[in-house]
Amino acid sequence: MAEHKRVIIIGSGPAGLTAALYSSRARLDTLVLEGQQPGGQLTITTDVENYPGFADGIQGPEMMDILRKQAQRFGAETRFETISKVDFSSRPFKLESEKNSYTADAVIISTGASAKLLGIPSESEYWGLGISACATCDGFFFRGEKNLFVIGGGDTAMEEAIYLTNFAEKVTILNRSENFRASKIMFKRAKEHEKIEILTNVVVAEFVGETINGAKRLTGAIVEDTVSGEQRRIDAGGAFIAIGHKPNTDLFEGIIDMNETGYIITKPGSTYTNIEGVFASGDAQDWTYRQAVTAAGTGCMAAIDAERWLAEIGG
Ligand code: NDP
Repeated sequence: MAEHKRVIIIGSGPAGLTAALYSSRARLDTLVLEGQQPGGQLTITTDVENYPGFADGIQGPEMMDILRKQAQRFGAETRFETISKVDFSSRPFKLESEKNSYTADAVIISTGASAKLLGIPSESEYWGLGISACATCDGFFFRGEKNLFVIGGGDTAMEEAIYLTNFAEKVTILNRSENFRASKIMFKRAKEHEKIEILTNVVVAEFVGETINGAKRLTGAIVEDTVSGEQRRIDAGGAFIAIGHKPNTDLFEGIIDMNETGYIITKPGSTYTNIEGVFASGDAQDWTYRQAVTAAGTGCMAAIDAERWLAEIGG
């Protein structure tokens, strides 16, 4: 027998938990199914210094615990389950996790996105110890560095490199070919920047680091020329992986309208998807800003949209 909820929220990052806060405060029976990474991408970061309201910054996991408790305070229920199947063809909508079956009058999708990574062992070894996938989040921690790597050749790589020149003396972009996916204007801006050097036909063979006073830290990388196969070491105090993001939307393929890279399309200025009663918020539908605060903002919008839509249809 499926359990019925007024609103089911899929995902528990800032978007999902903010949606839960607003939905439960609107006295809607709300359930959050937290997914494979409870708390979302912020649980794999350290200090969050750019979320308004925390003058001294806050640790990512702690912030998500607070957000979860804040939503629970108004009655939102949160469960450590991952939705593996949805049927949005008729109402109430049907959802299945590995443990339970649910029905819901409205669904908010907040499944987030994941940064694509190189997948080499030294990347995980130095993750958070000099390697990051978000310059806006972590650039500030690299103030005064002599050199920082940005890996990738798309708009994100160009944008992150330009941003990082605010903190480091030099930024080196490593692109695996001679072709750049970045728009001409972004590429030109990076290329002409006095602090940016662009290396083409290079891949990272291995990240390297040192342990100083018991603290492990990235100090550079062995890079390989993809044409000659030659390897050399370049020093850098940080590396930003900017090879794209993947929205966590596989579950909705063929069900919800998405763009060619899998981001859910929402009606401009709202969180409405192409299916009435299903709303989308956070990084699953945002390929531009991808910040905790913007995710929380669209989570709030999704709960308000759902609440008004439920009131409109009645029942
Ligand atoms: P893109 O997919 O555009 O670019 C990814 C880059 O990473 C490519 O250069 C690709 O190389 C490289 N890459 C992929 N996998 C690897 C790997 N394993 N090793 C090394 N390099 C790799 O992603 P972006 O995140 O840059 O952009 C995504 C979208 O967001 C784009 O549409 C972009 O225009 C948009 N965007 C817009 C911005 C703006 O307008 N201000 C800012 C940021 C993003 P290759 O070409 O060889 O595959």
